Amino acid sequence: MLNIVLFGPPGAGKGTQSEKLIASRSLIHLSTGDLFRRSIKNETNYGKKAQAYMDKGELVPDDVVICMVEEKIKNHLDGRGFIFDGFPRTINQAKALDKMLEGYHLSISGMIALEIPEEELKKRIRGRFKVSGRTDDQDEAKIENRIAVHNKETTPVANYYKSQNKFNHIDGMGSIEEVYHKIDAIISNY
Ligand code: AMP
Repeated sequence: MLNIVLFGPPGAGKGTQSEKLIASRSLIHLSTGDLFRRSIKNETNYGKKAQAYMDKGELVPDDVVICMVEEKIKNHLDGRGFIFDGFPRTINQAKALDKMLEGYHLSISGMIALEIPEEELKKRIRGRFKVSGRTDDQDEAKIENRIAVHNKETTPVANYYKSQNKFNHIDGMGSIEEVYHKIDAIISNY
């Protein structure tokens, strides 16, 4: 199984690149943001627990996220693997993911971090709002907060994968195709 963590701040292109990778490599897309948005729409318990945090651009508590991810993994163990998009976002989540996968004799193949300057992120998120309609993509203060939360709470996750020699990074500034080919080349070595 190929299990990839696609890492990067909001607006880095994780969702776009995940879509291309799931098509080319038949992987399961596990985006915790998408799962939460669907849960909110369907008024499930996960949605109710997540909404207030998402509205502020804060992280949803680890226990809620981990539980939801475990459910999704359990239901797709017969697949070719997962693209984790927007997860893990804390060291706690990264450790829980390792433990979860270990329980199924699986592991993370590698992490690929997309690097983008902050001004470009904001530009992309503002542009995305026109398509996504996401309220957290519209409000300038929420965008700022999400990037700040990423820098403070999520960047340490990269060190976690560095310590396991699973960290790769690429310049995320090219065209969608260019970035995709760089990611694909890394995955081919896993
Ligand atoms: P995203 O679509 O990945 O940008 O996520 C949108 C929002 O969902 C984030 O701003 C968080 O509020 C929440 N969220 C998504 N994934 C996680 C996660 N792994 N841990 C905590 N909160 C998350």
